[in-house]
Amino acid sequence: MTPRGLGVNSSLSEASALGNMSTADTKKAMAEAQVAVQIYTEYFGEASYKRLAITQQPAPNFGQSWPGLVYLPITYFLDSTARKAFGASADRLGFFTIVGPHEIAHQWWGHTVGFQSYRDQWISEGFAEMSASIFIQLIQSQKNLDPYHKFWADERFLLNREDNQRKKAYETGPVTLGYRLVNGKSGGSVPRLLIYPKGGYILQMVRYMLRNERSNDPDVDFKRMMREFVKKYTNQVASTEDFKAVLEKYMTSEMDLGGNHKMDWFFDEYVYGTDYPKYKFEHSFKADGNGDTIVHFKLTQSNVSENFRMLVPLYVETTDGRVIRLGGARLTGNNSIEQDFPLKGLQGKPKRLVAAYYDDVLGDFENK
Ligand SMILES: [Zn+2]
Repeated sequence: MTPRGLGVNSSLSEASALGNMSTADTKKAMAEAQVAVQIYTEYFGEASYKRLAITQQPAPNFGQSWPGLVYLPITYFLDSTARKAFGASADRLGFFTIVGPHEIAHQWWGHTVGFQSYRDQWISEGFAEMSASIFIQLIQSQKNLDPYHKFWADERFLLNREDNQRKKAYETGPVTLGYRLVNGKSGGSVPRLLIYPKGGYILQMVRYMLRNERSNDPDVDFKRMMREFVKKYTNQVASTEDFKAVLEKYMTSEMDLGGNHKMDWFFDEYVYGTDYPKYKFEHSFKADGNGDTIVHFKLTQSNVSENFRMLVPLYVETTDGRVIRLGGARLTGNNSIEQDFPLKGLQGKPKRLVAAYYDDVLGDFENK
């Protein structure tokens, strides 16, 4: 069960016309579900449930997923005029965009693969949230990646919201404390502000660390890993450490920041820890003696603990719109790395360099 309380205000606005009040048109929901099931099956393998029913529920501000059944909020089926009459006009933080793909993804996360305890529930919510971003990237971002970037910008916005203690959501506690973080001091909004977006980011970083640019399908290794995880834990419960063990089978040498072929460094920082890094990236181009382009860059990591390590992917965008991963910059603690880097063999002209172009690192980025 997965409420997404985004606070749709249900007070009736006097001035607005009511619009079409029918909630009987399920074409959009059906189409969305068919495409989402196809995408998730490709990424995660078969779900346990071969049949999926989608229907409305009276609650206006959240959906729910059950095995083989998804409830969408009644507001989802209203047109924008009717939503406005209910004070739910603004697609606040992309609620109406995400709610379908998120709830459908729970057929995998939560239902096909269960979670062992409340400490592992972030897998269900976080993975469902990240699955929605794959849907948004593949279906709604075909013209450009704006909807995809907006999705992740919204997730960062939530993580930076303050709880009742005036702490940023990311400071409230690690995702593995789960719903225990809800108490009189922190307030009830912590799961939505922390567990969904941060859990989503954890899997997002895994996806892009496994990105294989040599393959026609850069997600090929990520898909293999996810399918193995799903297959192994179908109709069973999985723990945080179970997921880590499967990931360690697939990790590349570049991901081995700890030098022990373990993902301890990553889990200690993001899953069991509360750091939220900030990055500043500056760069400029110059030509060397042979007319080749050299890029000069400086990347600064701040707002982290002393031993916090990260591999920040750097991408070059060419003037003809291609985006190519150049490599990863390793940083430890509150530190900078500054370097000249020859862009040899690059096809096309470089337009700019971008750190974490795909929103593939948790944290706030200033790209210059
Ligand atoms: Zn959910």
